[in-house]
Order: sequence, then C-alpha cells, then structure tokens
Amino acid sequence: MSKRSPHTRKLVLEQAITVVLVVIAWQILSHFDAYEQFHEFSRNHEHWQLDEIAMLILVSAFVMGGGLYVRWNQLLSALTERDEAQRQAERHAWYDPLTGLANRRYFQIQLDSIASAGDAQNRVVAIIDLDRFKPVNDLHGHAVGDAVLKDVAKRVQGELDEDSTLARLGGDEFAIIFSRDVKPDDAERIARRIITAIETPFDVQGLSIMIGTSIGLARTAPDALASEGLQHADKALYSAKRSGRGRLAWYDDELGQRSRERAELEADLRLALRREEVFPYFQPIFGLGTGELTGFEVLARWKHVKRGDISPEIFIEIAEDIGLISELGWSILRQACRRAVGWPAGLKLAVNISPKQFLDGALVQKTADILEDVGFNPAFLEFEITESAVIPDMEFAECAIRDLQAMGVTIALDDFGTGFSSLSNLRRLPFDRLKIDRSFITNISDDPSNQRIVEGILSLARGLKIGVTAEGIESESDLEFVSSMACEYGQGFFFNGAISGDEVDWLLDALEDGEAPPALPRSRQKSA
Ligand code: C2E
Ligand code: MG
Ligand code: MG
Repeated sequence: MSKRSPHTRKLVLEQAITVVLVVIAWQILSHFDAYEQFHEFSRNHEHWQLDEIAMLILVSAFVMGGGLYVRWNQLLSALTERDEAQRQAERHAWYDPLTGLANRRYFQIQLDSIASAGDAQNRVVAIIDLDRFKPVNDLHGHAVGDAVLKDVAKRVQGELDEDSTLARLGGDEFAIIFSRDVKPDDAERIARRIITAIETPFDVQGLSIMIGTSIGLARTAPDALASEGLQHADKALYSAKRSGRGRLAWYDDELGQRSRERAELEADLRLALRREEVFPYFQPIFGLGTGELTGFEVLARWKHVKRGDISPEIFIEIAEDIGLISELGWSILRQACRRAVGWPAGLKLAVNISPKQFLDGALVQKTADILEDVGFNPAFLEFEITESAVIPDMEFAECAIRDLQAMGVTIALDDFGTGFSSLSNLRRLPFDRLKIDRSFITNISDDPSNQRIVEGILSLARGLKIGVTAEGIESESDLEFVSSMACEYGQGFFFNGAISGDEVDWLLDALEDGEAPPALPRSRQKSA
C-alpha cells in the first residue's frame, strides 16, 4: 500500500470534518417533518428564536455541502496527481524515457522470469549495438542523436512479433528476448533484416544520417542463469564487431559456423548479381485444352562457382534479407526479356516480382525503362505477385496494377490457396490470372479435399472472369484431373522443369518443325 502525502492527509481530515457537520445538520432538520412545521414550533417557543437558528443551520448545511463538493473535487484531483506521479516513477523505473522501450532493469527481470518459469529452453537473446553512432552525436548534436535512437527503436520493433521484448540497455545498445515462437533460424533472419533496416539512411531534421549495426545472438539454456544468455549475446556481439561492421555472430560454435557460411553466401550473392551470374531459366506453360505452348515462367537460377546450384528458396530469401531482392528482380527481368526478344510473338513471359520490388514507388517507370531499353513488347509480359505484396498498401497496389495494365503488362496472383487467399483482395484488385499453388495440384487425384478446393478456386475465377494456371502438374493423372476441371493453363515437371534459354530455342525449333517437344530427363527437371 502506498503512503499518503501530508497534503492528502490534511484533505482527507477536512473532508471527514465537513461530512460530520453536514450529518449533524441533517439530523437536527430531520426532527421536523417540514420547514412549515418547524416554523410553527418556533412560533410557540418564541424565546428560542428557533426559526433563526434553523435558518442558520440550513444555510450552514448548504455552505458545507458546497464546501464538501469543492473539497471532494480537490481530493479527487490530489489522488489523480498522486497516481500519475506514481505511474511516472514506475515508468522511470522500468522504461527508457527517450524511446519508451523497456530498460535494462525490466529486461533483466523478464529474463529472470523466463528462467524461473522453466521457459528458457532454446529462447534466443540478442544484443544490438549501433555502428558509427558516436560521430552522429558529436557532429550533429544530441537532439539529432536522440531522434535517430527513437527511429532505430521503431525500425527494430517493426521487425519483431508482439511477444518479443525489445529493450534499450543504454546509449546505443538495445537487446531483444525473442518470443517462444521464434526459432534460432528465424531469429537469425530477423537479425539480418534489422541490420538491413538500420543501414537504410535516417532522415532527421533535413539530414540523411547513415549508421549501421552489429548483433550478437545467444540461445538461453534451461539450467543456466538467465543473465548468462545476455553475457553470451554480449560475447557474440564482440566477435561480430571484430569481424567487421554490419555483421551478426552467434555465441554457439555450430551456429557460428553456419552464420559464417551464410555471411559468405551473402558476399558471393552481391558479386554474382553484379556479374549477372544469377540468371533466368524458363519453365514452359501450356494451354491444357489445346496442348499449345503459351509462354514461360521465368525462374532465377544461381550456379555458385564452388557450391554448385543453389536453390532459389535459399538465395531469394538471402536477397530479401540483405535488401538485394529488387536488384535481383530487375536483373532477371532485363536478362529474360533480352533473351526472349526474338521468340515468336504471343509467347508470354511470366516474371516473379517480390513484395519489396512491387512496393517500390518507381516500379512502373523502371519496368517501362527496361522494356524500352531491351525492345520487349509489354503485351507479352506478365508479373507474378503474391498477396504479401498487396497487403501492406492496397491503394498503392491497385494503382500500380492499373498502371502496369495500362502499359499492357498483365498481373497474376501467384501461389493462390496458400497464405491469405482473401476474397476481398480478389474483388478489389483487377488480377488477370490466378496461379493455383502446386501443393493443391501435385497428386490431386488422391486427395478429395484438394479436388474440392481446386474446383472452388476455378468456379470463383470463372465468376470473376480471371484466367487460371495450375502449377505443379507432375503426372498424367494430375494433368487429367485439372484438364477435366476445365483449368485453362498448366505447368509442371510432367511437361518440363525450368530450362535454359538455349533449351528454349531447341524447344521452339522442334515445335516449329512439328515435332513433339523434347522432354528433359526427370532428374534434370527437378534440379532445374
Ligand atoms: P514460384 O513462383 O511459385 O515458382 C514455381 C516453383 O515451382 C519453381 O521453383 C518451380 O521450379 C517449381 N515447380 C515447377 N513445376 C513443378 C512441379 O511440377 N513440381 C514441383 N514440386 N515444383 C515445381 P523454384 O524455381 O525453386 O522457385 C521457387 C520460388 O522462388 C518461386 O516460386 C518464386 O517464389 C521464387 N523465385 C524464383 N525466381 C524468382 C525471381 O526471379 N524473382 C523472385 N522475386 N522470386 C523468384
Ligand atoms: Mg511464380
Ligand atoms: Mg507459384
């Protein structure tokens, strides 16, 4: 229980006295039915002059009542002030006043409570230390430094789920306890995203401030002290800083090895992009009713000099994490269009556009520039986007789609059926095509619930007058099934995997000569 201040004690005492006086006045008056009766009584007892006394008591009761009201209000505001002061004191005790984040003390208590609740199995703790922050304070003053710290807090918070705890430990040092759902691999991805987010310049008071960050990561152990996790993360941070700026490091050796490999891949990918060593492959798409080749999906490939083929699932994710995905996307678009310029008119190129690239304000202009530069007809280009590209800003998405369509480019919604699959997105955004995710198509004949889902998607698309392509046709029975449902287009290993530009040329020659398309060996398809 909190102690009351002398001022509050005095107010409470005064209040109590006032209440007692009013109660006494009320008790006296309540002996008389009404004022008239009281007046009569006083006339019979003139020497008492009771009516004057009664008047006096009444007036005092009113005055006291008014006083009571005023006092009551004072009491309430005093209590509110006291509570506010208490809250303020608590805020100072637990939170950092500049950023509003938890402070070191609160962070430590959170760590301890995780350990004491037996919840410290494999939780990840991170320490973030800004690079080149001191010169910001020295050169531009503390107001600018403070504004940067506030923005850093917001950017880091933006990368975390709401159950993770972010704290400012002091100065330019922040720390995270990742939520239980964030596994070590996820934590590492998030840490990389944070490094990329902090490398983006900060606009403060008309200045463009460039800083960076290093991150140390550690896993907490169930039987270790909670504070150990923080110490380990600190040691990891030290080794991250030693290996260069803008790096992350794990405390753990095995993870450390993996993170070194990943750092190497990142550096190699940067180089590979510059040298156009990430290049397009083309997966044929066929009209299922006609059997005709209608175009290709462009799929990025990376042949690493030492490690061989690296799956797009891996390098697309790396490119997203380190902020190179747009550069990769534009490079693939340019190379694919350059390769396809001489192919027969009417064959469409479907190019995957990542959410980051799609949300770039210059998307339409950059597309137009590349197409003009290469001399590729926009009417033969389709962009494949996923719902995660449109969710962050529906208005922007709608405008971008309409602008691209005005240029002649069509838009497909990729991987439909996974993720949100929101009907309101379909209603609002004018997609030209849905691509049903391969997880619904491969082995569809054995899976009645997938059959019903695909039927539903097809009738929905028909109602909305949107074309449909089925991905992942791997067998004759997959093909029979989707064809029997009147799905218009399809792609998959049953026809071809992704093939090189040269292989497309052979395929086109064979088709022109009226030969059956040259099938590629299955092993070759899967690796492509
Ligand atoms: P996606 O856009 O859904 O591409 C289709 C993926 O399914 C490709 O995987 C393709 O090789 C694979 N596939 C095609 N037919 C079959 C089949 O019959 N069975 C099976 N199991 N798989 C089939 P890939 O090439 O590994 O690409 C994976 C994902 O990487 C793509 O999924 C796309 O999201 C992304 N990606 C690939 N290239 C690019 C690119 O240039 N830019 C961007 N932003 N993302 C790309
Ligand atoms: Mg795709
Ligand atoms: Mg897809």
